[in-house]
Amino acid sequence: MVTLMDLHIHSSYSRHWWAGQSSLATPKEILDAAEERNIKVIAIADHNSIEGAKEAVKLARDRDIIVLPAVELSTIDGHLLGFNATEPVPKWLTAEAAIDKLREQGAFVVAAHPMFVIASIGLKARKLKLDALEGFNARCAVSNSSSQRLAKRLNLPVTGGSDAHSLDEIGNGLCITAKEVYTVEDVLRAIKHHKVILSGNPAKAYQIVKNSMQIMASKVRRESQFIKHKI
Ligand SMILES: [Zn+2]
Ligand SMILES: [Zn+2]
Repeated sequence: MVTLMDLHIHSSYSRHWWAGQSSLATPKEILDAAEERNIKVIAIADHNSIEGAKEAVKLARDRDIIVLPAVELSTIDGHLLGFNATEPVPKWLTAEAAIDKLREQGAFVVAAHPMFVIASIGLKARKLKLDALEGFNARCAVSNSSSQRLAKRLNLPVTGGSDAHSLDEIGNGLCITAKEVYTVEDVLRAIKHHKVILSGNPAKAYQIVKNSMQIMASKVRRESQFIKHKI
């Protein structure tokens, strides 16, 4: 038996610099979609927020799915994933300072889409105390092979996920293990011991466009209600 894991999913708690929200999918909808697709482990990794992850962990208690609480933290050097982060960390620190703060709370720190052209740590990964590199990100597919090469060169484990910003995209990127996985610790152990393989398909352009249009429509709806209220 193998276990399918999607270790990079955004929920409606994820924040975007101009749209307010970067996903409209609620934690409950994400759990439902993952279960439907036989994905046993998910990491909710919202931009600079741990609220969605906390809600998903609570919801997963009565269900046959493991939620790895996480955050995708913006640093001045690029995005970091903090698996098992429980406390908020300020954004726009240096990668070094952010890693220290995440590690202080026992988080497992991964460079998100490390070799992608935007918001990525790049070769600075060589000098950082990282636990792993994200080797497969369905939204940054062009850079996945160089991210995996870098991980190999640094002898770091890899993780993988869809970077889903909509329900459609969940499962586009997968981290698969043949190890028995019952807890978050089992998941992290499988990653640390290089017992995962990465798989998936690049996010389709229509999925990304549809998601951006839905987010824009929701922003316009929110703002027009606000204006109506003001009038
Ligand atoms: Zn990112
Ligand atoms: Zn992301």
